[in-house]
Amino acid sequence: MREHTSGPRVLLKRLRELMAASYEPQDRLDRIVRQIARNMVAEVCSIYALRADGILELFATEGLNPGAVHNAQLRLGDGLVGTIAASAQVLNLSDAQHHPAFTLLPETGEEIYHSFLGVPILRAGRTLGVLVVQNETQRHYSDDEVEALETTAMILAEMIATGDLQRLSKPGMELDLGKSASISGLSFNEGIGLGYVVLHEPRLLVTNLFNEDAEKERQRLDSALGSLRLSIDDMLSRGDVAFEGEHRDVLETYRMFAHDRGWVRRLEEAINNGLTAEAAVEKVQSDMRSRMMNMTDPYLRERINDFEDLANRLTRLLIGRAPDQIAKTLPENAIVVARHMGAAELLDYPREKLRGLVLEDGALTSHVTIVARAMGIPVVGQARGSVSLSENADAIIVDGDEGQVHLRPQQDLRDAYAEKVRFRAKRQQFFQTNRNKPAVTKDGVGIELLMNAGLAVDLPQMAGSGADGIGLFRTELQFMVVAAFPRSEAQEKLYRQVLEAAKNKPVTFRTLDIGGDKMLPYFRGAGQEENPALGWRAIRLALDRPGLLRVQIRALLKAAGGGELRVMLPMITDLSEIRKAREIIDREVRHLSRFAYKLPTRLKLGAMIEVPALLWQLDELMQAVDFVSVGSNDLFQFTMATDRSNSQLSSRFDPVSAPFLRLLRQIVEAGKRANTPVTLCGELAGRPISAMALVALGFRSISMAPAAIGPVKSMLLDLNVEEVAKLVGEALDKPAGQVNIRDLLTDYAKAADISV
Ligand code: PEP
Ligand code: MG
Repeated sequence: MREHTSGPRVLLKRLRELMAASYEPQDRLDRIVRQIARNMVAEVCSIYALRADGILELFATEGLNPGAVHNAQLRLGDGLVGTIAASAQVLNLSDAQHHPAFTLLPETGEEIYHSFLGVPILRAGRTLGVLVVQNETQRHYSDDEVEALETTAMILAEMIATGDLQRLSKPGMELDLGKSASISGLSFNEGIGLGYVVLHEPRLLVTNLFNEDAEKERQRLDSALGSLRLSIDDMLSRGDVAFEGEHRDVLETYRMFAHDRGWVRRLEEAINNGLTAEAAVEKVQSDMRSRMMNMTDPYLRERINDFEDLANRLTRLLIGRAPDQIAKTLPENAIVVARHMGAAELLDYPREKLRGLVLEDGALTSHVTIVARAMGIPVVGQARGSVSLSENADAIIVDGDEGQVHLRPQQDLRDAYAEKVRFRAKRQQFFQTNRNKPAVTKDGVGIELLMNAGLAVDLPQMAGSGADGIGLFRTELQFMVVAAFPRSEAQEKLYRQVLEAAKNKPVTFRTLDIGGDKMLPYFRGAGQEENPALGWRAIRLALDRPGLLRVQIRALLKAAGGGELRVMLPMITDLSEIRKAREIIDREVRHLSRFAYKLPTRLKLGAMIEVPALLWQLDELMQAVDFVSVGSNDLFQFTMATDRSNSQLSSRFDPVSAPFLRLLRQIVEAGKRANTPVTLCGELAGRPISAMALVALGFRSISMAPAAIGPVKSMLLDLNVEEVAKLVGEALDKPAGQVNIRDLLTDYAKAADISV
């Protein structure tokens, strides 16, 4: 193989010499920026280092005003440099001043430079600073130049990490991470967690960067890749892979990546440029990360996580660290901090030790968030800088209620949060004492309290919450946390597990509700839709792709053989959809009975009321099904024309108000007329005050997140239904807007000493 003799290899050689010589740190840094600028034919080269207070400080520059060194500063997230540090991504701009994040630092004199290339200085996943080159002319830096600068950044990372730059910082402005820091993010799941940082991407420190002998490194890489492939094959052939379906598909994807020729080629190239095999893996990994993180395609974004995991495994093989050390050394109160992570990876952590999750990235609908919610741990997302500012075993508080993360908190803050946690624990204990009591109101009305679920990790909550059954099993979650369609055996296995965990309590399985905000990364059938919430989703998709529904129905029928099967159809708009789904179910029943399978003893088919069109065909609907369940999340969204995931609108309209409650009352009445059971399984069921309104309207069965059952039950035990029904009934009969029903119920609860 040809050795490169110019470009990056020469720069690496020069840098190596500079590192080895005995210069004072500032002098060394100045020489480094000069060398980089010369090698890259740039007028400017600057190094910004990230201080523990989240400020990026200019540490050295060639080309900018020398007086700005140690004076020019930017906050993490501000300006181009702050954006690079916060996102750990490259910015390559031919006209930097027109970039929306651009902020001019006048003291630097940078206004004359147009093109800008900045790369994060990363060490084991943490941003330590930013390295920038600039040119006066508008030019686009080539991929090779980006690579060269990234490689250089790796070497600088080493300098920063070894404390070489520490001596350059002013007192009180340290680079080391001993100080408290608070980060504002978004609340992805409520709750408070106190504990110790566990960095998800274990800091695999690659300290040996330069190779002596490229051929030897290629051989090391080759043999590590061989072991990696073998270990994946080995995992796949083992029968005992935990969470069979969910993990297996991920591993299949890993196998594909491990054989990816493009990856291997890039690794070899980095070795040819002078890096060791492990440094090459780190370099290619960070290139990949920065190129792919900008993509909006959910499939590709999820794939980055798989790829990172794989690259970490390879690095471990090269530097000789056992792959499963993380799990063994996990502290008791672990708070996992990750830039981003796959759903299956979160399932690797033992639930009993997890107290919270902090993500730099992520969205409310990311798979990992869904799983974390199912596991019931507090989650803060979009917490910029959390990976860079934290170190393993640092004390940390995750405030999922407020979307805040406090790193290395001061004692008074710790005390305040510890008090909050104690208070919650006490309430929890109180709910536990009611756990096995039936939910019967003061005036003797029994209310069925069901739980919502969707993954195997939810099942222990069945017993923990005292639920009367599962009112909504969101089958799509199994599909959302894996890398490819779960096979029919995996589906059947999960359904069996669910039914076993439920003992003989009722379970309502909802057929696949994908589309809208529930995208499957590997299913691109829908393409880009202008209005996905109103698009090709749920039952619409299922009827157009009957193969999917058929496989699922067959898995459900087999799993429920010998018992009752309750199936519910999502997003019904037109009654013909129910008829068509029933035909598919009947066909599957006939098929299985022909092959003498044990069939369910009873099959009940229900429809979700989520689309307002059903309100004008309620009587026909009630005749067409065995039960209905109001999906109040979607029904409210469509009734009020208000995107359910838009936080700006989340408190604008109130479901506990005349229009929506009147609509729900109509549904309850239609159910009574037809003697068709009516339940409700949206978020509305899980808040004591709205649950009170539902019971007042006549709902006698509601389904909610398991954690909500305790608070709702304790409200019900103190409630007089007759009284509250009269109160709400009269309020609804008055002109809309005349009575604030939420206030009315809150005042009533206060007067009657009911905790809501
Ligand atoms: C609903 O729409 O209220 C519902 C329960 O379904 P999902 O939240 O899964 O859309
Ligand atoms: Mg819905």
